[in-house]
Amino acid sequence: MSDSANRALVPFNIRDLSPYVAGKTIAEVRGEYNPPEISKLASNENRLGCSSNVKREVAKALEVIQDYPDPISRQLREVLAEQNKVDPSNIIIAAGSESIISILCRTFFLNNEEAITADVTFVGFFVQVNIRGVSLKKIPVTKDYRFDLDAMAEAITNRTKMIYIANPNNPTGTYITKSEFSQFMRKVPDDVLVIMDEAYFEYAQEVSDYPHSMDYDYDNVITLRTFSKAYGLAGFRVGYAIASKEIIENMMKTKLTFEPTTPAQAAALAALGDPDFIKKSKKVIEEGKRRLYQFFEEQQVAYVPSIANSVLMILPTEEQAINFMQAMLEKGVILRRTNAFGLSNGIRITVGRKKEMIHFEQSFKKVMENTKILS
Ligand SMILES: *Cc1c(COP(=O)(O)O)cnc(C)c1O
Repeated sequence: MSDSANRALVPFNIRDLSPYVAGKTIAEVRGEYNPPEISKLASNENRLGCSSNVKREVAKALEVIQDYPDPISRQLREVLAEQNKVDPSNIIIAAGSESIISILCRTFFLNNEEAITADVTFVGFFVQVNIRGVSLKKIPVTKDYRFDLDAMAEAITNRTKMIYIANPNNPTGTYITKSEFSQFMRKVPDDVLVIMDEAYFEYAQEVSDYPHSMDYDYDNVITLRTFSKAYGLAGFRVGYAIASKEIIENMMKTKLTFEPTTPAQAAALAALGDPDFIKKSKKVIEEGKRRLYQFFEEQQVAYVPSIANSVLMILPTEEQAINFMQAMLEKGVILRRTNAFGLSNGIRITVGRKKEMIHFEQSFKKVMENTKILS
C-alpha cells in the first residue's frame, strides 16, 4: 500500500497506535538462549498455575463445544452475584477485563468526550480509548508512583465522561486508600463514570485501608475484576464488571455476543469453587514479595512497595532498563519493561514461587557482576 493510500484508509488514531509488543514466550527464550532454567515473571500471571478443579470442568464443557456459549454466562454470573452480594443484573462477563474496557469505550463515549487516567498505568486502557478516538488526559503520577487524585479531579471538564483507576495500579503496585477514594468521589460529578479496575483484588483485599469499590454505593462507579491473575486463568480470557443495572444493561448491548467461550465459563466457575487455591497463592506472593524487598534493600536497588503480585524496580535510565531486561532474558528470567505503561526506566517483576525468586536473585547477581548496568 502506498503512503497516501495508507493515509486515506486508516484513521489517524489507529495509525498512531503502537502494535502490542508481547513479552517473549518460554518457547522463544528456550529457542534463542537455551538457559538451564526459565522463569516467566513478565505478565503477572499466577506461577502456581490454576485450581486443579479446572481441567475436569473444562473437559465436560468440551462435550458441548459444537453449541454456542451462553451469551450471558448465566451460571457464572449467579455465583459471582452471590459472592459479591449483588443481583446478577449488576454483572457483565466478557473475554477478560481488556474486553470489558473495550465494551466501556464502545458503550459510553461520544466523539467529543474525553477520559482521564494516570500517565503510568495499564496500557490496555490507553489502547482502547485511542481506538475509540476520544481524547485522553494522562495525569502524572506522584513522586511515589501513585495516582494523583487531586490533579485528576481538577482535570475534570464538562467533556469528561470516564476516569480510569487501576487499584492497585499496574505496573506500580501502589494503591489509593479508603479516605482518598471517598474524598475523590465527592469531587466527581454524578455523570462521570469512575472505572475501578481491581485486577489484583484477591491479593489486595486484606490491606486495611484498601477500599473495596463494591462496598460503596456510587451509581457512577464500575468495578472491574478478572480471572487472569490470582485465579490463574489468563489463557481462558474471563473478566467481569459490576455496576448499576442500567449501566450493565447498556454494556450488554455492545458486548460481542458469545464471549467468553463455554470452556472459559466452565473454568471460571471451577476456579471459584476452590478458595484454597487463592489462599495458597496469596501466601506465596506475600513470601515472595518479602524476599524480593529484602533482596532489593541488600542490593541497594530502588523499588516500589506493592500490594499486587508484582514489584516495580526503578533503574536510573531507560538504556539501563533495556540492558538489564535483555541480560536477565539471556539467563532465562523473563521480565517486563514498563515503557508501554508510560514509565521508560522501570522493570516490572511478577512475584513467583521461591524457586523463581531464587532464579531471579542469582541471575541478577551474575548480571551485575558481569556488567556495569547499575553504575
Ligand atoms: C492484567 C490486568 C488486566 C487483565 O486483563 P484480562 O484482559 O482480564 O486478562 C486488567 N487490568 C489490569 C490493571 C491488569 O493489570
